[in-house]
Amino acid sequence: MIKFLDLHKINARFEKQFQEQFQQFLNSGHYILGKQVSTFEANFATYCGTKYCVGVSNGLDALILIFKAYKELGLLQDGDEVIVPANTYIASIIAIIQAGLKPIFVEPELATYNISVTEIEKHITNNTKAILAVHLYGQLANMSAINLLAKKHDLLLVEDAAQAHGALDRSDRRAGSLSDAAAFSFYPSKNLGALGDAGAVTTNNKDLAEVIVKLRSYGASKKYVNDLIGFNNRLDEVQASFLNIKLQMLDADNEVRRSVAKRYISEINNDKVKLPFYDNSKNHVFHVFVVLVENREEFVAYLKQQQIETLLHYPIAPHKQEALKEYASLELPITEQIHKNIVSLPISPVISEAEVSQVIKAVNQY
Ligand SMILES: *Cc1c(COP(=O)(O)O)cnc(C)c1O
Repeated sequence: MIKFLDLHKINARFEKQFQEQFQQFLNSGHYILGKQVSTFEANFATYCGTKYCVGVSNGLDALILIFKAYKELGLLQDGDEVIVPANTYIASIIAIIQAGLKPIFVEPELATYNISVTEIEKHITNNTKAILAVHLYGQLANMSAINLLAKKHDLLLVEDAAQAHGALDRSDRRAGSLSDAAAFSFYPSKNLGALGDAGAVTTNNKDLAEVIVKLRSYGASKKYVNDLIGFNNRLDEVQASFLNIKLQMLDADNEVRRSVAKRYISEINNDKVKLPFYDNSKNHVFHVFVVLVENREEFVAYLKQQQIETLLHYPIAPHKQEALKEYASLELPITEQIHKNIVSLPISPVISEAEVSQVIKAVNQY
């Protein structure tokens, strides 16, 4: 069986380093917000090219904290509209709602699966205060155009970079540095994954970073001095120690993902399988490799029979989820078509050439 993603194999590469780090962590006797968290924050800010990084509990909390911090700073108010791609992982939308804001669903481009810039402009109203861009599947959204729009309409621009650690734009700027503030998830299956839940916010805005530092820890500016009604959304010290080790491999791992994707794109040749758009640059880190097929159930069952595991990112569009039923009547045909026809093929930094060949052969024989 070719696994969709072999997480044990990914992490086994670091086993010895993890064990050493864990021993040091255990011996330190300091288990919350210690040296590993502050080191990771410095390392990840440098990596992304931002002035600040604040480690937090997970990607969803990173998004919520950005919006809540903007409210503390008086730049967002309850009920403000936030433009978000309709075609995203539901966490992007949940974050907006949990922060007391209103999500405005905008269609993607079918070619890139990312939010359509012309559609964004059509949905801007006097109540629009922010755009949440998502680098879906690991490919950067059109950030230069979205930044221009945000500037023109005086909107905050936030990145959901949970699938795009390390993606680079044409000027070699990284995901996480292409907006006012960005949220990352280090969920185990992400391109940079911890061994549990973890996340971060990156930004160049000192005030925002300071508010998030407070909000993640009861709103405290220092121990037992509470300036805000905050949360407990801290990045775990032991997860930070693992992330410090794995960050060193991120660029190399993304390079392997891109080379697997390049093989799929050049060697898969089947009219029934539509390949993803890719411009051969580093703006895509192939968090997942998504193809479109008419008859998804049949295709997935066929690949399973060929010992190839697939996943769906995602099977149900957010506005069609029970939780978001108030949005169920929105007309979002492109989003719905994508959700109906997408299938993700195995891709990872540890998939072998032989496994990739086997996937290509099976897809071509479908
Ligand atoms: C994974 C993910 C999140 C949520 O991250 P968690 O760490 O699981 O909370 C948010 N947005 C996108 C696009 C994601 O892929």
